[in-house]
Amino acid sequence: MYDLICFEPEKPHKNLIRILCKIIFCILLIFVILTFFINKYNETNEVLVQEASSSNIVDTTVENSDANTSENNSIEETTQQSNFSEPTILSEEQYNNIIHIYRSDSEKIVYLTFDDGPSANITPLILDLLDKENIKATFFTLGTNVEKYPEIIQREYSDGHYIANHGYSHKYSEIYVNNDTILNDYLQCEQALKKALNNENFSTNVYRFPGGSSGGKYNDIKLAGKQYLKENNIAYLDWNALTYDAEGTPTHESIIENLKQTVGTKDVVVLLMHDSSSKILTYETLPEVISFFRDNGYTFKTLYDALSLNEN
Ligand SMILES: [Zn+2]
Repeated sequence: MYDLICFEPEKPHKNLIRILCKIIFCILLIFVILTFFINKYNETNEVLVQEASSSNIVDTTVENSDANTSENNSIEETTQQSNFSEPTILSEEQYNNIIHIYRSDSEKIVYLTFDDGPSANITPLILDLLDKENIKATFFTLGTNVEKYPEIIQREYSDGHYIANHGYSHKYSEIYVNNDTILNDYLQCEQALKKALNNENFSTNVYRFPGGSSGGKYNDIKLAGKQYLKENNIAYLDWNALTYDAEGTPTHESIIENLKQTVGTKDVVVLLMHDSSSKILTYETLPEVISFFRDNGYTFKTLYDALSLNEN
């Protein structure tokens, strides 16, 4: 009985130890299994992260290669369009070359300039004629028309004519408010030209004030505007001869007579004409205008020459 009593209390103790051992074993087993799976999970994750990084690198490479290709394409397109290159910013020397374009070293030079275009009916005729005569001219284009006829601008450019800036709206009351409205008129036309030529680097650098850079009721605003444009590296150019093809009711005779009178004895001539849609007479008299200058020993030049951009 005693033994039994004595034996009895030992049994739960042993059982307890056995149970504790089992629990510890189970805990260890669970720990080992968990560690195994955690390691496995981390390894998988690292692989995934690495794969993700690699695919980013690949994607970026693809993107970069696309970007390079389109960049190269646009460079090729630009090269194909013209052999000329336009400076983004005029140098001081180039600015002065335009402002003092009438200075002569005894060479007789004529710059044919056409304002207010392009137009669908007149500009292509003038371009055909200039092509036939092998003469390059300067077109002071109007932003609103540039937007309408981008393909004509592209032709002017690829034919080697100089595309200059005659502003966007041609509405004096909107342009001649202050310096910023003048600059804005220039910039709006620039933007239209960049879009037409699909070339963000294109810039004309030369503005022709609608109505001329001086005189009239906006004279003071124009005077301040000229200085403001200079501060923004933009030159301006008027003219020193004209056919009056855009005033009153011109005739063939009046155009030629005005040409002769306004050219006079000038060595350097910047001739104002127009290629807007009503100027059929400008086109019809152009052969005689060209003959007049040829007969009098003038060389035809463009603003590329004046800016010394025509040497390559
Ligand atoms: Zn005009």
